[in-house]
Amino acid sequence: MRTSRTPVIGCCLSVILLAGSGCAELPFGGFPVLVKRTQMHMGTLVSITAVGANDEVANDAINAGFQEIRRLERLLSTWIADSELSRVNASAGVKPVQVSPETLAVVRRSLQVAEMTGGAFNIALGPAIDAWNISAEPRLPSVSELESLKPLLDLRAVRVDVRERTIYLEKTGMRIDVGGIGKGYAADQAVMALKKAGAMAGVVALSGDIKTFGKLPGGKTFPVAIQHPRREGQVLVFIDLQDEAISTAGDYERFFEQDGVRYHHILDPVTLQPARGCQSVSVVARDGVLADGLDTGIFVMGPTRGMELVEHLEDVEAVIVDQAGEVHVSSGLKKRVRFPSDSPEKGQAQGSK
Ligand code: ADP
Ligand code: MG
Repeated sequence: MRTSRTPVIGCCLSVILLAGSGCAELPFGGFPVLVKRTQMHMGTLVSITAVGANDEVANDAINAGFQEIRRLERLLSTWIADSELSRVNASAGVKPVQVSPETLAVVRRSLQVAEMTGGAFNIALGPAIDAWNISAEPRLPSVSELESLKPLLDLRAVRVDVRERTIYLEKTGMRIDVGGIGKGYAADQAVMALKKAGAMAGVVALSGDIKTFGKLPGGKTFPVAIQHPRREGQVLVFIDLQDEAISTAGDYERFFEQDGVRYHHILDPVTLQPARGCQSVSVVARDGVLADGLDTGIFVMGPTRGMELVEHLEDVEAVIVDQAGEVHVSSGLKKRVRFPSDSPEKGQAQGSK
């Protein structure tokens, strides 16, 4: 995963927990406890919340979650020179590289999302993402420089052999970057680790990539708040999640401005320029990996085609803020989102698609 070494600018999606409200007694006596801890991983703030029978169980579960995220970072980060993905990239045009089931799974899910989004989501964009280098030292690459990279960005040249468990990039200079989907996958895997360690419920949040399971002590679902893309620190909408993931891609997280133009980190594979249709896209799905892949792909597709795709997919919902700031809420979320009482978008979104 191409994660940033610099601190993330703004946390695009925060989880607000109503801890300790009306705890129900456990079958064998005592009350469940809720513990939340935060660490830096994958270049971002990772918060894990666990509900357990006692402090020890909740803390053990959180430790297991962080450990899983660290393990995945060592497989998927392209900042780590000997990670599996770095080895795949270093062997581009030379030979297939055998990888773990997890790396294989992320790449296969990435290819599926690429297909679902008509190529808007493309993990082979690595060389173009590096040319912009928005996560580290942003620069404005020339059109001819970007054009010359195009032959290296062809997803069909990413060869996955499931039986041999290998990945082969056919052309020298190709690089895959799972920065648009890896955090959602990590959230899913960390949730599995929490469950295995005995947590009754919890939330794993890697910045804006969040997966929840179970309910809060007292029976409430986990409320999350989507950050307003243009008003820092303000909430766009609240949504309650149960056994669901939410993931947000925004143009306000990692960007620079030059001559009054905002250049951000989500690239349109056709133009190799930052995609211009949206300010932010939040996707709700069962799996974090799907929510994360789709938020990036839909951001590129833009509000109209993006929402059409969401309405076609089962168990996938979205809140899209288009370039003009208009909020589009998918049909299955209309009754589930709550706007803050003073929100100017409140009336606007009710009738929107
Ligand atoms: P984050 O949560 O880190 O902001 P996003 O889900 O918003 O991640 O995806 C942005 C990242 O995805 C970029 O930093 C880059 O690594 C990668 N990326 C950029 N454009 C595309 C694209 N069109 N398809 C797939 N990945 C992309
Ligand atoms: Mg994404």
